[in-house]
Amino acid sequence: MLPSVTSLKQLLSNSHRFLIITHKSPDGDAVGSASALYFLLKNLGCQVEVVLPDSPAPNIASFLDGTDCLFYDSNPQLVEQRFKSADCLIGLDFNAVSRVGDLQHLIVNFEGKRILIDHHTEPEDFADVLISDVKCSSTCQLVYECFEEMGMLHALDARSARCLYLGITTDTGSFRFPSVTSKTHKIIASLIECGIDQWLIHQEIFDNNSMDQLQLRGFAISEKLVLLNRSTPSLPVGYIWLTRTELERFNYQPGDTEGLVNTILSIEGIKAGVLIQEKKEGIKMSFRSKDDVHVNQFAKKYFNGGGHVYAAGGHSPDSMDVTISRLLSLIHELFIP
Ligand code: 5GP
Ligand code: MN
Repeated sequence: MLPSVTSLKQLLSNSHRFLIITHKSPDGDAVGSASALYFLLKNLGCQVEVVLPDSPAPNIASFLDGTDCLFYDSNPQLVEQRFKSADCLIGLDFNAVSRVGDLQHLIVNFEGKRILIDHHTEPEDFADVLISDVKCSSTCQLVYECFEEMGMLHALDARSARCLYLGITTDTGSFRFPSVTSKTHKIIASLIECGIDQWLIHQEIFDNNSMDQLQLRGFAISEKLVLLNRSTPSLPVGYIWLTRTELERFNYQPGDTEGLVNTILSIEGIKAGVLIQEKKEGIKMSFRSKDDVHVNQFAKKYFNGGGHVYAAGGHSPDSMDVTISRLLSLIHELFIP
């Protein structure tokens, strides 16, 4: 067993009240790993609670059913009480404390033990036990592997398996990214053996689009997509930029632009895609790439972000125009070997 998994097992057996948290704007892997770990620990007889900075997109919200999850943005006082009564905090699917938004101060001031289970590059050093595997497809896969190594897979049931399936599916682009290995598929096989209907989970995640969402995507691709290689062949990059007014025109809801940046990468010859969105809290950037182009260092160096080699995010304090100009002046750096 890896030394960190031994420490994880010890901390799990020595703690009494667990609090699970994940990052803001939680995606499928965040929601899936938080709810799966909740059910796994419950099945082992532990006292567990889940706290999220804000609510997820509607197509993945049902995976939190049964977890009695609290959202900090709508219930700050109750969340603060939960932090006071817990003795072990388990962070999932984030590498930097800033990723939890307004919950940050509660993590920093937490008086009990901290565990972090994550697969992003360069995790910050704030946990007593860090389980980090940047090669792992998803935090959900990592949670499964931890329970396997600890000899605790008897806690896995259909409810927790369904949640792990959500995170592995969404973080692998439905099993197509290089992070997918034979191990990933073996884990999926064992989740299906737990009795989940994987085809129903796919329908729930991917066949729940609203008309507004589809029309926003159509608008973004037909009107707001710029391909830099048309004028500069050495820059196989596309970007989409969406202002607040445009998002509002299509009645934007959380999750509506999820996956949009990947459609840029589906264009023949394109190796990097950037989605720039003007949100209430400022300009949010999403980077995706393939082959020999890596976006995490670029996002970290220039756009206050980070993430994975082929999928990273960040933000910009500038206006949309200034952000795009900066991006265009720096983007060639992605192609310096
Ligand atoms: P997305 O573009 O889908 O928001 O994020 C892509 C990946 O980058 C995700 O794994 C996400 O956790 C990470 N990421 C997104 N935004 C940020 C950020 O502001 N800081 C860091 N460190 N990672 C981010
Ligand atoms: Mn993830």
